[in-house]
Amino acid sequence: MAVPKKKTSKSRRNMRRSHHALSTSAYNECQNCGELKRPHHVCGACGHYDQREVVETAAA
Ligand SMILES: [Zn+2]
Repeated sequence: MAVPKKKTSKSRRNMRRSHHALSTSAYNECQNCGELKRPHHVCGACGHYDQREVVETAAA
């Protein structure tokens, strides 16, 4: 089995893990209703995409 030749230092270990902390907070405000929505997705609150309604909603 492959075994590391040298102990990974705290510095090197933490440098590797610095990428783990990156958060993917991919949310934008809806152009129509201001609700948080994911980019390139139809708004869950009003059913709008690209400033026009594409999905019927109960409120509309
Ligand atoms: Zn909306």
